[in-house]
Amino acid sequence: MKLAVFSTQRYDRAFLDEANRRRAAPHAATYFEAPLDAATAPLAAGFDAVCIFVNDHADAAVLQVLAQGGTRLVALRCTGFNNVDLEAAARLGLRVVRVVDYSPHSVAEHAVALILALNRKIHRAYNRTRDANFALDGLMGFDLHGKTVGVIGTGKIGRVFARIMHGFGCTVLGHDPFVSPEFEALGGRYVGIGELGARADVISLHCPLTPATRYIVNAGMLATLKPGALLVNTSRGGLVDTEAAIEALKSGRLGGLGLDVYEQEADLFFRDLSSTIIPDDVIQRLTSFPNVIVTGHQAFFTREAISTICETTMASLDAFEAGRPLADEIAFSPP
Ligand code: NAD
Repeated sequence: MKLAVFSTQRYDRAFLDEANRRRAAPHAATYFEAPLDAATAPLAAGFDAVCIFVNDHADAAVLQVLAQGGTRLVALRCTGFNNVDLEAAARLGLRVVRVVDYSPHSVAEHAVALILALNRKIHRAYNRTRDANFALDGLMGFDLHGKTVGVIGTGKIGRVFARIMHGFGCTVLGHDPFVSPEFEALGGRYVGIGELGARADVISLHCPLTPATRYIVNAGMLATLKPGALLVNTSRGGLVDTEAAIEALKSGRLGGLGLDVYEQEADLFFRDLSSTIIPDDVIQRLTSFPNVIVTGHQAFFTREAISTICETTMASLDAFEAGRPLADEIAFSPP
């Protein structure tokens, strides 16, 4: 298969090439650093498959250009697929695959890292001790043991996260339209989102971004939080109304915010902008708070996860080429 990879980083190329070398019949991969969007879609002309990531734009217009150029498969090297117009893909005869299961541990562990760092102020201590400031004032945290943790979305990642927090001695509450017996077996208890918000000392988001979940954390929900609660989002930026979160941080209602994803991340993440003027005042305001930690969509970024993502992507190409069923296909189901 001729494969065009968009939004390529050095590590994508290294791991995809490694997975490709393991194949009896390697695919012919061409790497583009540019994201897939209306301007770059013509680059894919003549490629059987395109491989894209979280901030590529596979809307109807882009998919039309891909289909006209002969592309038949869109392979997402991620789990979320909110950036693909599945209806348009189905109409154009394009098949879409993702990586359903790589390492839920990678993301869940990163959410825990954000919670621990926020709570125990590790980011501030790191800077202080480098400047020979060993004072503890302002670094006090709280015991996680005995606290209540709310998990919004108890799927693969949410359940791993819940297991870890249960191990810390936390009471775990969940919110999800689908009940997971595995979550309940860990001691998790399902509640409405209102009760979760009002009772949790820490809230972690693990649901996909859909029309129903956009701004699931909004001004109304933030106003009912337990004062000083920590919020962590390693799922998708659009789940949180960022401007409302800033107001909640300013009022002290929100005691800390850990973001691995951000509503406007497509214009920022996965590149070094340290020498440029950032026009986005919202991210600049966020990163000015001492109780906010932003990481640039790195929760998935472990050796194990990238290796599995690249192997699964190449395996999907193998299956497509051989006419076998696509295990990780995203089927369009009309609403
Ligand atoms: P999953 O499909 O296993 O679980 C998602 C869960 O969310 C499901 O149980 C689903 O029922 C639930 N859900 C759906 N609508 C909901 C709602 N309105 N309220 C509460 N829960 C709802 O997916 P997963 O593998 O656990 O991944 C979860 C999300 O994590 C992905 O959609 C993706 O956006 C994000 N993710 C982020 C990174 C990263 O690097 N930051 C990496 C991988 C995945």
